[in-house]
Amino acid sequence: MSGIYIHIPFCKQACNYCDFHFSTSLNNKASLVSSIIKELDYRINYLPDKKIETIYFGGGTPSLLSEKETHLILEKIYKLYDVSSSAEITLECNPDDLSATKLEELRSLHINRLSIGLQSFDEEELKWMNRAHTASESEASVKRAQDKGFENITIDLIYGSKFSNLSNWKTTLNKAIDLDIKHISSYNLTVEEKTKLGHDVTKKKELVIDDEKSAELFIEMVERLQKNNFIHYEISNFGKEHFFSKHNSNYWKGRYYLGLGPSAHSFDGESRQWNVANNNSYIEKLSANDTSYFEKEILTENNRFNEYILTSLRTIWGINIDYLNTHFNADFISTFKKEVIAFIKDETIILKDNAYILTNKGKLLADKIASDLFV
Ligand code: SF4
Repeated sequence: MSGIYIHIPFCKQACNYCDFHFSTSLNNKASLVSSIIKELDYRINYLPDKKIETIYFGGGTPSLLSEKETHLILEKIYKLYDVSSSAEITLECNPDDLSATKLEELRSLHINRLSIGLQSFDEEELKWMNRAHTASESEASVKRAQDKGFENITIDLIYGSKFSNLSNWKTTLNKAIDLDIKHISSYNLTVEEKTKLGHDVTKKKELVIDDEKSAELFIEMVERLQKNNFIHYEISNFGKEHFFSKHNSNYWKGRYYLGLGPSAHSFDGESRQWNVANNNSYIEKLSANDTSYFEKEILTENNRFNEYILTSLRTIWGINIDYLNTHFNADFISTFKKEVIAFIKDETIILKDNAYILTNKGKLLADKIASDLFV
């Protein structure tokens, strides 16, 4: 079983922190959808089998697609693949797009999981981020989606801007808990160079909070969400039982996925490939049958080992010893087992049920620990 990711590279406006690939010009939306449908035909032999367990519309803002555009993409996928009757079909959306009519359209398209980009409940912070919605629109959109029958809802929250402090973060977390949603993804604001925020921080016009304060907010989030029946199953992801993201869990478990659309990445176990991050170039190359719209990297055993360490260590399932034994050479495993002892001694990793798993103390240092365990 594999997954399909579709990148929809359009947004109403540019958030000040965002370095994903998107355009605020929606002029060539229809051509881009046609190109994605063409790419589906091109890539028909990419996945080793035709069984699909998850479909994920990400972006950008996929809720900007019309009902017809979303339908055309799904129709093609169902025509080419054997999509499981219990497939998880996620669509990322912004609160301002989720009118009652839009939600009814999404239900009729069999979208069964909504990922709503709330980011914050603070009006001032949302304005500063240049989000296209208000906090009251965010809360109303979640309630409307629930009323329309969407049970599987996740929201995104960002912490670590100059507006963040422990008191308002507690309020944010309480509001999220009160919404009775099933899943939360929450990210520490990172300052990316090619964004407005990155530019302003470089020019010293903006400040971000330090690592110590971010760690305090992270700890508060983990404790508060765990007390409210959210399972912390990946560093940035919390789900109630039976509501973990199947699509993202499959990424972290090394399953295969086909990525369609500009900037989308794909993985087939042996290589990674990524599409050109330019809408016009993507459309032009596909319409000219020019297959240079992607680049590809064959993964060495080192690459695969390090990726497995990085992604699995961030999850509740940890680094599995059986997986290491069946996928990697004895030298890598022996080096890893020597290196990991130091982390067990300083209580950042525990060995449990045949897997090396981060402790809460270790979660604060996940990326550093992973890189120390790389070969
Ligand atoms: S809506 Fe999402 S993808 Fe678009 S600019 Fe904002 S954060 Fe980035």
